[in-house]
Amino acid sequence: MGFFRRFIGRHDDSSDNHDSSVNPSRTESLFALTKEGYVIAEDIACQYEFAETEPCPHCDGPLKVLAQINRASQGLNELVCACRQCGRRSSIIFDVSNNVYQDWMAEQLGDLYIRNYDGPPRRPSRR
Ligand SMILES: [Zn+2]
Repeated sequence: MGFFRRFIGRHDDSSDNHDSSVNPSRTESLFALTKEGYVIAEDIACQYEFAETEPCPHCDGPLKVLAQINRASQGLNELVCACRQCGRRSSIIFDVSNNVYQDWMAEQLGDLYIRNYDGPPRRPSRR
């Protein structure tokens, strides 16, 4: 399906259909919190999707991503955001140690893939 659309579809970054930053194997754990309070990410695109919908912790305004901090050695990725309303900064920390993300990343990178994080994959916390 995605294969066919690549030929008939126009290049359009707003379309998720054949966006290589989206993992087609996302699970229901996406955006669940680990017990440490990290947001479970299963690909690159979802982290920006989350930042777009997450309200500012100070005023509930919309956020804009300023920078990405690669914390792969900790199995984490951090997005530094600024509020479009009050201008204050906040960080959203994503867990990328989970197998869904790592398997997807390995597939994306092929021979370039290096697993940077040695610890056990984090899991969604149960309440
Ligand atoms: Zn704000």
